[in-house]
Amino acid sequence: MRAWPEVYIPRLSERFSVPPLSVLNTSSKRVEEFPAKPIYRMYVCGITPYDATHLGHAATYLTFDLIHRYLKASGSEVRYVQNITDIDDPLLERAARDGVDWEVLAKSQIDLFRGDMTDLHILPPQHYVGVVEAMDLVVSSIVALEDSETTYNVENDLYFRVHSDSEFGSRSDYTEAQMLSIFAERGGDPTRKGKENPLDALVWLAQRDGEPGWASVFGKGRPGWHIECCAIALHYLQPEHSEEYAIDIQGGGSDLIFPHHEMSAAQSRIISKQRFSRTYIHAGMIGLDGEKMSKSRGNLVFVSKLIAQGVDPMAIRWALMGHQFSDELMWTTERLQDAVTEIDDLRLQMSRVDVAPTDSVIQSIINALSNNLDTREVQSILRAWMSATTAGETGGEAGELSRALDTLLGIAL
Ligand code: ZN
Repeated sequence: MRAWPEVYIPRLSERFSVPPLSVLNTSSKRVEEFPAKPIYRMYVCGITPYDATHLGHAATYLTFDLIHRYLKASGSEVRYVQNITDIDDPLLERAARDGVDWEVLAKSQIDLFRGDMTDLHILPPQHYVGVVEAMDLVVSSIVALEDSETTYNVENDLYFRVHSDSEFGSRSDYTEAQMLSIFAERGGDPTRKGKENPLDALVWLAQRDGEPGWASVFGKGRPGWHIECCAIALHYLQPEHSEEYAIDIQGGGSDLIFPHHEMSAAQSRIISKQRFSRTYIHAGMIGLDGEKMSKSRGNLVFVSKLIAQGVDPMAIRWALMGHQFSDELMWTTERLQDAVTEIDDLRLQMSRVDVAPTDSVIQSIINALSNNLDTREVQSILRAWMSATTAGETGGEAGELSRALDTLLGIAL
């Protein structure tokens, strides 16, 4: 599927040093330094195309955009793939509720998402892949699981034995009881009769009355959620089989830690005989005015609506950068208003002929990003620079700082 348009990134001057990036790996619960590599492989789970693009999505894709920009600024190539879950229960349920065709709903939401990503200045993935268009690939991956004797039937549906991966549970690090409870909450079916283990993952759902289905060697049906991501990641990111890990970064929101990322990784390890991802990186959830932001509460804040109200997309980026990426963020109108004011102020200071020194500011921003994407520190550095400029300090190059903000932060003023 077509991604959104390419984003121009100014080159960072070679005067600045770009230290290795360290980021919190959910799997080890430690901030880990990325080894120096010429190519990094990053897979970020994409949207299910209904209810796009709310601020939780924006926070997630912003996080991986900052990582993408940083790794590129360090001189490496970043292979980036994102999927679209364009066939799944929630999409069909929403389409039925609203009395619209599921394909029409998906297309409209994907278009909206592309527009929002463009407005937010997010670098596009090289491959933006829908499940429907990747159906043959997904089916081949299920065949590979079947060949490894890790699948079984429950009626006409097909399940994956999660414990056939000896490392199952290691990436999310929950107890069996926690896994069972989260699995039930997040669309799993632990109590279905006929399953060998309650946690086993659905990989192929035989076609139900009134639902779409695709022909396959398992009969007509559609894939489970987890298998699609490992199939798309392993195909499009072209792992090096000599490396310990197939890819470097598996990313998404923290609601994907379990079961989605655990199960994708387990299936992937069986298919490729290689560990799936070196790091699992997760963006925190976004709340609104003291409450969880969710579809069921009906309090989602949409990027396109904010922009339609005249909010500067750069202010949305800035507001989201005001918290540590892996923490939860409580969104408020005041937070957005403050961000609008600060972005306006930054733009004003950048337009001055004489500004406070900028070289040390740029290097400090790079250093702060290298330290677990410390965007709050980045904002403090820029606030101090704005105060110094207002106070009349000189000796800096506003143009160079402006380009560096674009390169590293995606803040285009
Ligand atoms: Zn995924």
